[in-house]
Amino acid sequence: MSNPHGTITGNRGLQLEEKLIFEQGVEGRCGVDLPDPPKVKSRMGGVERRGPIGLPGLSEPQAIRHYTRLSQKNFAIDAGMYPLGSCTMKHNPRLNEKAVRMPGLGDLHPMQPVSTVQGALALIDTLAHWLKTLTGMPAVAMSPAAGAQGELCGVMAIKAAHEAKGDHARKVILVPESAHGTNPATAAACGYAVEAIPANERGRVDLDAFKKELGPHVAGIMITNPNTCGLFENDIVEIGKAVHAAGGYFYCDGANFNAIVGRVRPGDLGIDCMHINLHKTFSTPHGGGGPGSGPVVLSAALAPYAPLPFVVHGPNGFRLVEEAKGEGAKTFGRLKAFHGQMGMFVRALAYMMSHGSDGMRQASEDAVLNANYVQARLGEVMTAPFPGPCMHEALFDDRFLNGSGVSTLDIAKALIDEGFHPMTMYFPLVVHGALLIEPTESETKETLDQFIAVMRGLAERAKKGDADFFHHAPRLTPRRRLDETLAARKPVLRWRPAPTERQAAE
Ligand SMILES: *Cc1c(COP(=O)(O)O)cnc(C)c1O
Repeated sequence: MSNPHGTITGNRGLQLEEKLIFEQGVEGRCGVDLPDPPKVKSRMGGVERRGPIGLPGLSEPQAIRHYTRLSQKNFAIDAGMYPLGSCTMKHNPRLNEKAVRMPGLGDLHPMQPVSTVQGALALIDTLAHWLKTLTGMPAVAMSPAAGAQGELCGVMAIKAAHEAKGDHARKVILVPESAHGTNPATAAACGYAVEAIPANERGRVDLDAFKKELGPHVAGIMITNPNTCGLFENDIVEIGKAVHAAGGYFYCDGANFNAIVGRVRPGDLGIDCMHINLHKTFSTPHGGGGPGSGPVVLSAALAPYAPLPFVVHGPNGFRLVEEAKGEGAKTFGRLKAFHGQMGMFVRALAYMMSHGSDGMRQASEDAVLNANYVQARLGEVMTAPFPGPCMHEALFDDRFLNGSGVSTLDIAKALIDEGFHPMTMYFPLVVHGALLIEPTESETKETLDQFIAVMRGLAERAKKGDADFFHHAPRLTPRRRLDETLAARKPVLRWRPAPTERQAAE
């Protein structure tokens, strides 16, 4: 590895260069003092491993330093503003963390007898109650482990409902062009063909184009509301009525629920199912692929098909319906082992209880206010594809960069040097060179002002034609700009030991 910082060590201040753990390992070194294992006669029938296991040999301080240094290279919402659109990277209150670590919750095991986990089941039931209340929906499936799995849950329930009616002719799901990639992927995974609905010049579903697509071949529609352009779908009630009249079901992607909690109940809009990303709207930590939790609220029409297991409250306390009979007779099956992401349930409920209904409503209002503040201040120097105020995220396109030689990607890279995580780039796809900024309610006005000042400064620098500055950003990160195309085309996923001197000589 070449030395990117010109220091003797390759380190930069107290930010240390980090080799792979395998490169640091020394054969025979060990962080613990274990007795030799007793000799046993193998019963593996000759398939047992003969060579070394290949784990790196490290002392305990080496192992701890390795992971600590890696963690210091990780940017996080606890470190600074993370305006990633559609991800709702809001603050995770420490109270949540305290609640989830309480021994009675933290030490639970999903295989415990139901009689010993009555409190945990009551907690799931209480959270379910609030999710139903906030959405105005009669039922909720708690087990999905993420938004994308919630979508799978919802579309499987839609499929089961059509099949229960003996309707096997519905092969298509309609999805707007602006949808998150998980929407069409979910529909396709469930065996549906995906028909894209165009957006109108206001960034919403084109109602006429949508109505033309409806028919007896349509199983349902998947619409995100507020949508991924950060806009409320004003025609949502009419869309719901039209899809129902055509015999289809209405899936709402509720990942952007943070914009409307306490203000709009999706159940009043005519939707049949909607996933809620607990790890976005209700503050539980997320990123890097997990963990998540995506409960799905269901209309009365879809509730019978909910996945197993689910919690019910009877005369003898709480119990789990785990089999496809009785209350679970119509279920489409099981989505995952166990009942859902218990840790995320605890955090989400702690968030709800500590905010109260007035606090949750205020959080949504502040999220929308913050986004509109950013949109208004940046709208003076950047270009917005759609007119009017936004919901929880501000969307810009790259027209303000026309002729400058600077791209959306360059702006994002320069933002890193200024200490901000980039916004979402190039999504939604309906907007050219999109920059999608979601500040969330947890940022202060001072932070927003600093972010705005940086973005305005960058926009002005780009317009002045200083493309070279941008093409070399980021300058201050442990690694400079990577060749992402090459990395994707030729990924190096496997570490191989460097050849020994003898092997090299041979
Ligand atoms: C985040 C998101 C999803 C997927 O949720 P995961 O929990 O990441 O699986 C789906 N749709 C939209 C609009 C999202 O923002």
